[in-house]
This record gives sequence, structure tokens and C-alpha cells, in this order.
Amino acid sequence: MKFSFAVFLAACACAGSLSAKTLIHAGTLIDGASDQPRKDVTLVIDGERIVDVVAGFAAPAAGDKVIDLKKSTVLPGLMDMHTHLSGESNPQAYLERFTMSAPEVTLRTAAFARKTLQAGFTTVRDLGDPGGFTIALRKAIAQGIAEGPRIFTAGKSIATSGGHADPSNSLAGRFDFDPGPREGVVNGPDEARKAVRLRYKETADLIKITATGGVLSMATSAQNPQFTEEEIKAIVETARDYGYKVAVHAHGAEGMKRAIRAGVDSIEHGTYMDEEVIELMRKHGTWLVPTLLAGKFVAEKAADATYFPSIVRPKAAAVGPLMAAMFAKAHRAGVKIAFGTDTGVSPHGDNAQEFALMVAAGMPPMAAIQCATRNAAQLLGQEQNLGTLEKGKFADVIAVSGDPLADIKLLQRVAFVMKGGQIVKQ
Ligand SMILES: [Zn+2]
Repeated sequence: MKFSFAVFLAACACAGSLSAKTLIHAGTLIDGASDQPRKDVTLVIDGERIVDVVAGFAAPAAGDKVIDLKKSTVLPGLMDMHTHLSGESNPQAYLERFTMSAPEVTLRTAAFARKTLQAGFTTVRDLGDPGGFTIALRKAIAQGIAEGPRIFTAGKSIATSGGHADPSNSLAGRFDFDPGPREGVVNGPDEARKAVRLRYKETADLIKITATGGVLSMATSAQNPQFTEEEIKAIVETARDYGYKVAVHAHGAEGMKRAIRAGVDSIEHGTYMDEEVIELMRKHGTWLVPTLLAGKFVAEKAADATYFPSIVRPKAAAVGPLMAAMFAKAHRAGVKIAFGTDTGVSPHGDNAQEFALMVAAGMPPMAAIQCATRNAAQLLGQEQNLGTLEKGKFADVIAVSGDPLADIKLLQRVAFVMKGGQIVKQ
């Protein structure tokens, strides 16, 4: 009897320590929801969620852990809605499909994911991956095998023949092949539907299509429309059957118009957006993910003949410099904006450089932060879990020293990162 009572007590003590909470004492809190920062706030974390947010520095109960961020600004984990974790620009990038094995790419993808998390990005939306790397990595991160952000991945982008994200572009002779829906290339509504269903089979989290030409593909135009409206409608209708959102790469205006009318969720890049596009986006509530960092990066590299192939350089020179002005115009017009960088074009871990570009183009710092927190969570359909530091949300928390509203570049030096209640950088 006595012995089993002792066991019972030990079990209780064990359960007690399991429910010990973590208190973050935040000197300044930007919670992602409010337009105003708050001073001296305690975030109460139990397991992977925030269970309370209280004014003042709450005293810990026995067994609770306190994280002292009284001298810091505490924010929600940042969210990048446009990354490519499976690659990174370099002068040899176009050869990598011949020179790198899948295991090599996988290991590199894991390293990029870790860098991204260490930079304060606790969630990313990965918009295009040639071979299931981000799907594997998402699973490994969920299992605790790899360290990285929460990944919502589109898997393979869907393109049309010869279009941006057709993996056979530029291949000649015995290397050329005729990709289909499995490889993310479709022609006609039936193949479009099949490609969406194959992404479901591969357990992608959303759908990405390339509605116009792109800068880095081995093709002439970054602007031409590359899907019919009928094809995009087939994509969107099928995506809805599986609860998928649809993200659309588009630089040219005609491709954007077709996509917005077809009911897609976000326009990525948006470079040659005109007044009609802005009106359509406002009317349909379509998000813009502006990727200014990619624009800046390709514009800087455009003159370097050793970096990009000659077919890419004129597109990089034309597209890059237009993006900041397009973003400013869309912001002034009240288009919904979520933060996204197209990182993988620029180096992984530099994602937060986008904030300074947004602020330089006229967006207030708090609004830019909300693009990477609350707005991003809305675009993902994850506002119940992510994007703000409120009761019930995942404890995805970062901190910087100083005031990022006075100097937005402080977000490039994140000192503390917590994901799901676990400290990953301190
Ligand atoms: Zn991209």
C-alpha cells in the first residue's frame, strides 16, 4: 500500500513538472495584432502554446522558467510567404541539376532551413521545389529530426510547356524531355486538374502556378501570359476541393488579370501591375507578395556577365528596378500585402532585408512587421495558430535589442528565437 502511494505521489510530481510554464518578460511587446507596442508584458507559455498575456512582469510559480527579455523588443516569429529552400542563386546554379545528387540537395535544403529559422523566420511558405525536398524537410522538422521553420510547401510549381518552372527549358538533344503533370507541366484544364491532384498525393500544402514568364528561367520573356484563364480556373476549382490555396507567380499584367479573375489567393512579384490589376485585386481581395529583395538582387547581378546566363540578364535588368515603385503604388491603393522575399534568389538567412526595402518604399515599419506576422497568417489560413502573440497561438516568438520601429534593420539581427515553445536561439 505504502509503496504504491509513493509511486502515485511521484507520478503527481512528474505531472506537475510537465505543466510548469515558461514566462517571457518582454520589455516591449509588438504582438502583431495591435498597431501600438506595449511596455512590460509577460507571455505565459505552456507546452507549445501561449496560454496568457498579462500586463507587468508576472512572478513565476514554483517550477516555472523565466526568460528575461526586459531590455528587448519581443515580436511574433517572422513569416516569409515566398521562399525556395531547395536552392540558392550562384553562378553554377543552372548546372546543379546535372552535378548535384538528390541527397546533396536534401542536406543543403536542411542547412538553408536552419539558417532561416536562426534569422527569426519561424514559418515559411515554400513556393516551388523541383523534387519534393521541402516536403521531406517539413516531415523531418515535424519529427524533430531537422531544425527549421514551419514549412507550408507547394511542392513542384505548376507551369505550362516552355513556361517558367518547366524543368525541360533550355535542355537540348538527349537531355530534353517532355514533362507532364507529375513534373508540374500542364496543357489544358484536364492536365491542370491532374497536376493539382498529384500535389495532393505528394502531400503539398498549397498550389503554386507560374502564370507569366519569369526572370531566372531560360526563356525570353518575363512578362508573357503562360496559362489560359480556363486552365487557371481548373487549377483553382480543383485546389478548392482539397482545401488548397493558390499562389501565382506573375510579372506581366495580363497573366495577373486572368489569375485574379479565376479566384487565386496571391499574386507573387506583381512587377508590371497596372490600374486594372490593382482594381481587380481590391475587388477580389487578392494578396500581393511583393518580393522586393529578389528584385534588388537580380538587378544588382544583371550587369555581371559571369553570374546569370545571357538570356536571363536583360530580364533581370528590366524587372528588378520596377518592383519598389509597384509595391509603393499597391500599398497606397490599399491592396492586401503579405511579406515575401523569394529567398533562394537572394541568400537564405537574409530574408529580413525585405523589411528595409518595404519601409524605404513608403510603408510604415509597424505595417511592414504586420505583413510578416498577422497578414502572412491570414494568407496561409493559419490565423488561429500563427501570426500574433495572443492566447491560444503557437509560442513562436523572437526578440531584438532596441526598437525596430525606429530602425527596421534591427530585424536583421534577431537575438532570440523560440518556435512552438522551444528555444532555438538565445
Ligand atoms: Zn519564387
